[in-house]
Amino acid sequence: MRMERTGEGPSIGIDLGTTYSCVGVWLHNRVEIIVNDQGNRTTPSCVAFTDIERLIGDAAKNQDAMNPTNTIFDVKRLIGRRFSDTSVQSDMKLWPFKVIPGADDKPMIAITYKGEEKQLAPEEVSSMVLVKMREIAEVFLGSNIKNAVVTVPAYFTDSQRQATKDAGAIAGLNVMRIINEPTAAAIAYGFLRKESIVGAKNVLVFDLGGGTFDVSLLTIEEGKIEVKTTAGITHLGGEDFDNRMVNHFMKEFKRKFKKDISKDQRALRRLRTACERTKRILSTTAQTTVSVDCLFEGIDFQMTLTRARFEELNMDLFRECMEPVENCLRDAKMDKSSVDDVVIVGGSTRIPKVQQMLQDFFSGKELCKSINQDEAVAYGAAIQAAILDGRFHDLSLLDVTPLSLGLETGQEHAMTVVIPRNTRIPTKKEQDFCTGYDNQEAVDFLVYQGERARTKDNNFLGKFEITGIPPAPKGSVKFNVCFEIDANGILRVSAEEKSTGLKNKITISDCDGRLSEEQIKKMIQEAEKYKAEDEEHKKRSQAKNALENYAYKMRDTFEDSKFSGVDKKNIHDSIGQVMEWLDRNQLAGSDEFQDKMEELENICSPVIDKM
Ligand code: AMP
Repeated sequence: MRMERTGEGPSIGIDLGTTYSCVGVWLHNRVEIIVNDQGNRTTPSCVAFTDIERLIGDAAKNQDAMNPTNTIFDVKRLIGRRFSDTSVQSDMKLWPFKVIPGADDKPMIAITYKGEEKQLAPEEVSSMVLVKMREIAEVFLGSNIKNAVVTVPAYFTDSQRQATKDAGAIAGLNVMRIINEPTAAAIAYGFLRKESIVGAKNVLVFDLGGGTFDVSLLTIEEGKIEVKTTAGITHLGGEDFDNRMVNHFMKEFKRKFKKDISKDQRALRRLRTACERTKRILSTTAQTTVSVDCLFEGIDFQMTLTRARFEELNMDLFRECMEPVENCLRDAKMDKSSVDDVVIVGGSTRIPKVQQMLQDFFSGKELCKSINQDEAVAYGAAIQAAILDGRFHDLSLLDVTPLSLGLETGQEHAMTVVIPRNTRIPTKKEQDFCTGYDNQEAVDFLVYQGERARTKDNNFLGKFEITGIPPAPKGSVKFNVCFEIDANGILRVSAEEKSTGLKNKITISDCDGRLSEEQIKKMIQEAEKYKAEDEEHKKRSQAKNALENYAYKMRDTFEDSKFSGVDKKNIHDSIGQVMEWLDRNQLAGSDEFQDKMEELENICSPVIDKM
């Protein structure tokens, strides 16, 4: 039974994954990973829109083959990115739903909901997944949840972090802290293995999920977790392995049947689902058969795939996974022999080849698999939430910024780094810059994130300007520029001209593509509208089912009974009319179903009482 929600509940930890999300809470001195309404501990990060309702999680994923263009997944691959981003352009080709360019090069998702075309920002879709995760926790805890810690890949850029925070705000959540996924996994490891941690331990967390890949190198010492370095690829994970398999089978289908299924979104979606299942099976068996009935133009598709072939299809991607491991060690100036434990998290680390390559890299060292791969991140996030709530005190955390931050300088558009990557956060760094030519009246400060020497190869975060500079020779006007990163890894930049005190600043939040406060407010209102519609839909389904059940029950009752006479005909006619009405009015409002129910009860109940 659903409990009445009372008061404000504890803060929760949410792992907002590319393919699956997971929610946990600190309760009775341990973390509880909360099961959803389907009894599952993880929930698909999937949202669907139909003619009559909005679906989130399992319900959305379960109908994706029937409704591919309005079933949204992978939104984590869009959030905080630009439409023109090469990864967005290539992902779009594989998605059955439509992504279109919005204002400021922002990707927008075009859907049809209740017969109406709509455009959604990635933040809005992510917020819907967050709402679902919050509801899962609310049902379990029987209280309203306001505060949450949400995780992001360590290698997420500032824009991706900001956008995730905005998704939380749209979901009506106070995102107390954004933490890095491998760091969260390390918290889980530090907590669950605390007995075995004697002295300082160097731990490498290898986190390969559905869409992103992170590696972090940490030192864990009694009650203290210190991230040394982090590296990763924001666009690599299980979905890429699925794509390789989909492409392989598409080619095989073409070869065998001379037919191209690439334009049939429904067929593609069904093939993709079968491939994902096959990939999981191949993690435990050496060979399996993929079969999809009536895949395309009535043709049943069936084909075997060996683990060796699957590995061959993905070998370059698996190899790519080893690079961040090397980078992490190199940046930390640590030899691999100094790593005490290699912890694997994320569903894709179940792939035997990935495990083997990692183990080989560490000269045969046993990998630590005792931390649940799918739940470790939410587990750590729940502990972090309890720390911020003041309900857990035994652990402190020091994290780093994953990518260098700096300004564009000179004609050659060079990246001048102010905060190098792997700097401990929160942090504040100041650096002086000066005018580039004589009598310069205004200076543009262009802020970038990334490791490349030219800004064009890095991630543009935002810009601001200082104007009204008094005429002076080149280089003689100095600006003190201050970069500040908070505990969420979010950046604020300010600059001040020293002699005149002219100043300006930005939180990178103000940059192009970021939602404005006004837009967020509007989206919160929209989210409330969606919620009200979902509730009305639920109420309507319940009222409709109750009426349907009652009508059938009465039909059976009066058919079986010995009773006869005028009343019997009356009742049979009334039941028949209600059933007919139900057939014609599937989309009636909950009030109408309730009214019909009352009418029928008024006819049947007195007769039943007399029987
Ligand atoms: P995560 O984001 O950590 O939930 O990871 C989800 C990804 O892990 C998805 O791409 C899944 O297909 C993948 N995955 C889950 N279980 C397995 C498995 N047994 N073998 C291979 N990949 C898996």
